[in-house]
Amino acid sequence: MQPIIITLDGFSSCGKSTLARQLAAELNYVFIDSGAMYRAITLYFLRNHTNWNNQTEVVAALKEITLDFQYNSLTGNSDMFLNDENVEALIRDMLVSEHVSEVAAVKEVREFGVAQQQQMGVRKGIVMDGRDIGTTVFPQAELKIFVTADPAVRVERRFKELYAKNPNISIEEVKTNLEMRDYTDSNREFSPLRKATDAIELDNSLLTREEQLDIVLKWAREKMKQSN
Ligand code: C5P
Repeated sequence: MQPIIITLDGFSSCGKSTLARQLAAELNYVFIDSGAMYRAITLYFLRNHTNWNNQTEVVAALKEITLDFQYNSLTGNSDMFLNDENVEALIRDMLVSEHVSEVAAVKEVREFGVAQQQQMGVRKGIVMDGRDIGTTVFPQAELKIFVTADPAVRVERRFKELYAKNPNISIEEVKTNLEMRDYTDSNREFSPLRKATDAIELDNSLLTREEQLDIVLKWAREKMKQSN
């Protein structure tokens, strides 16, 4: 069967990455978490005091950045590497979450991210999640999914995930961060978060992980059949 491209876009903490990872594993496809790339760039900028509102500084900094996903045999997932350093845990930090949407709105950062993501999909057989994957990165993707979930459910899910690592975090802090990122991601000038006109919407507020995977696998298999 010919491989296809599957995109999952949506607001923060809708469970896109979890679903995309499971889907890729079932289909034997490559999973790419595009948000991890913007998070790694943000980490680099924060560490190196790069002013992301200064175009010259951004262009110079991007030249120093190499991003790479490497398989982690302990977790079975792909970890984000920034200049050969495993930054998978660091990029999930609240400090990175607080700035990533501003960084991801910068034109040069988007061009840098989108070009690398497009390169990763040349051979197809890929599931990529993000905000602009079905609209800007792979507008020709065979299957586009727009994931949504009730805002309260999203806050609760994200809080549980972060609390496990940092019991000092408050639910208010998580809620404010999600609202801020959703607003910035939807209102930025370049590649804003949008549902592609040909995307199928999946509201997973009341679905278990298994239920949503079953639904999406059906869609994927249908598209794969049609593409042959
Ligand atoms: O997916 P995740 O929540 O880890 O993404 C972190 C941030 O990266 C998002 O809030 C958004 O600002 C940015 N992002 C983006 N475009 C993508 C993926 C993520 O702008 N394709």
